[in-house]
Amino acid sequence: MSLHEAYEADLVVIGSGVAGSYAALAAAELGAKVVMVTKRGLLSGATPWAQGGIAFPVGHEDVEQHLYDTVKAGRGLSDPDVTGEILKESLDHLRSLIEKGMRFDPGLAREGGHSRARVMHAGGDRSGLFLLNFLHQHLQSRIKILENRFVFQLATDDNGVSGAYYLDGSKRVGVVKASATLLATGGSGQLFGVTTNPGEATGDGIALGFGAGCVIRDIELIQFHPTALLDGTLVSEACRGEGAKLINAAGEYFMGGYYPEAELAPRDVVARAVDTEIKKTGGVFIDLSSIANFEEKFPTVFASIKALGLDSRSEPVPIAPAAHFQMGGIRTDSEGRSGVPRLYAAGEVGSTGLHGANRLASNSLLEGLVMGARSAACAAKELEPISTLGIADPTEANGITHVGRAEIQKIMSESASIVRTGPELESGLDRISAIGYLPSLDSFEIENSNLALVASCVLRGALAREESRGSHYRSDFPETSEVIFHVEQSLDGLKTVIC
Ligand SMILES: Cc1cc2nc3c(=O)[nH]c(=O)nc-3n(C[C@H](O)[C@H](O)[C@H](O)COP(=O)(O)OP(=O)(O)OC[C@H]3O[C@@H](n4cnc5c(N)ncnc54)[C@H](O)[C@@H]3O)c2cc1C
Repeated sequence: MSLHEAYEADLVVIGSGVAGSYAALAAAELGAKVVMVTKRGLLSGATPWAQGGIAFPVGHEDVEQHLYDTVKAGRGLSDPDVTGEILKESLDHLRSLIEKGMRFDPGLAREGGHSRARVMHAGGDRSGLFLLNFLHQHLQSRIKILENRFVFQLATDDNGVSGAYYLDGSKRVGVVKASATLLATGGSGQLFGVTTNPGEATGDGIALGFGAGCVIRDIELIQFHPTALLDGTLVSEACRGEGAKLINAAGEYFMGGYYPEAELAPRDVVARAVDTEIKKTGGVFIDLSSIANFEEKFPTVFASIKALGLDSRSEPVPIAPAAHFQMGGIRTDSEGRSGVPRLYAAGEVGSTGLHGANRLASNSLLEGLVMGARSAACAAKELEPISTLGIADPTEANGITHVGRAEIQKIMSESASIVRTGPELESGLDRISAIGYLPSLDSFEIENSNLALVASCVLRGALAREESRGSHYRSDFPETSEVIFHVEQSLDGLKTVIC
């Protein structure tokens, strides 16, 4: 395969969301030569869509309580040591962002699962976009940015990963040879037909990491956001924090019957309640009429509702749960090391142990910042001279041509959604396993094959997790197992690891 372009770097960052951008900035500040590759524009990925904000502990005195809330939501699968470190360190990054000129809105918001108001916003409900624009302004002149380049393969030598191969829009192949490679590729919400995630969320980083020998941990744990508009657009959790109520099609406020804190219950509880009430009464609606100054506080939500021809001030708006966040991912240590030499992972693609079986609202931008910075610092410390790296030639990737993305999403929605059963998961796995692959240099087809690989990991993991925990609910195993375990998958197969 001939190469159209080639770059060299100390660190190649794959992804321009919060984790990738903050890592790139941190590495550049440490003097590293950085190339950042992103498969669409700089504002691709989930980060610019983040509405709710960032949950920082309210000073050092709140770290313990934030840790308690996070671990409680994680239902036994969060690692309290790593979580505590990340939360504590987040305050340094908050300070550093403010010193660099990042402007947060005054006041703090409270969201579901948080025992107090601690969520910071920027630009109302455009927190992710504001943060990302801010990071990109600081990055532009300091690193090389390659947009519209789809990474389809990691470059390797005998000792580990040595960079990344990508395709440009004309299917030409390029490479960044690098002493360290960071996967910051975000999540995999496109596994499901109804998702809050952008089109880029196709699990590419999981597939790349899996192929390189990483351990994929707890990937079956997928958070479904309880309140999406029927086109998948998110109605932020913060709306419920501000007093929005859920009503079923029979006109009843029902959340109080499911959880003492009603609308402020953790996401998995609200998502299952909404799913149950939709099945029971035919629909669920969100009543936003009690939120003062709703249009100013939630301009994005207001506009999305308006675009559907509805008026949130005068009528409750129909909602449904949607695939939202991948709790599991590439298992990393607390510095972002993936276990494969020279390969790091940060942000939604990684599994540090922070989110456990259920992410606490607004904890993921925080994790992206801290783990982006930590991975960059660790990589910068461990850099090998580029002259010592080898690089194997790229090979054509697997693509799926004969099965559309909609078919994969249908299989997953039918077999691995909010309420799961063994037979449905088995059937989903059979259908995904029957898909055939062809060599391809088409990024959409390669994304589909990445989705199919992640789908099979989700289905296998969900089958192995014969219990209900956090976001994972098996109606044939409704109890939470007393034995707490991780499900780990790699090229060597699947194993459960007791915590
Ligand atoms: C609608 C919505 C609202 C949310 N609200 C909040 C919130 O209020 N607070 C909060 O904390 N979290 C929120 N989240 C979750 C949070 O936004 C994400 O978890 C977080 O932004 C992920 O950041 P990331 O940097 O890991 O990945 P992303 O921001 O998803 O970025 C991934 C990047 O990788 C690139 N990429 C992917 N594959 C490839 C490839 N093969 N080659 C090259 N580039 C590639 C993409 O183009 C993109 O640039 C929300 C998520 C959604 C979808």
